[in-house]
Amino acid sequence: MNDCPFCQIVSGKSPAFMVYDDDRFMAFLDIRPWSRGHTLVIPRQHARWVDDVPDFGAYFEVARKVSTALKRGLGAERIQYFTIGDVVFHAHIHVIPRYPGDRGLLPRFPGERRFGDREMREMAERLRKKINKE
Ligand SMILES: [Zn+2]
Repeated sequence: MNDCPFCQIVSGKSPAFMVYDDDRFMAFLDIRPWSRGHTLVIPRQHARWVDDVPDFGAYFEVARKVSTALKRGLGAERIQYFTIGDVVFHAHIHVIPRYPGDRGLLPRFPGERRFGDREMREMAERLRKKINKE
């Protein structure tokens, strides 16, 4: 889909701070993170909803890989997963790290451009390295 922002990332027309990619799935940092390291996991093939994605289990295994990297690479204590789908109409799993002392149902800073490009790049690189080590 030409006007889909995530298909633009898949095709390389839009940049992303890439954390993981394989022949079916990609994971990149959310540019308006709810917490430090907030990552989106998408199928390369456009799908409207998370449960439209073929091989649902493999899809969530990618989310788990990202979670492990968030714990080992950024010190996350636990991970929240959300699938909402009302803003961008390409299936995505929000993988949201929560940190020690970080309480409450939702993270502290939803929806802001919180980190500069350099910090986002460094975060993505650190997560990529952790995933590749597994
Ligand atoms: Zn799409």
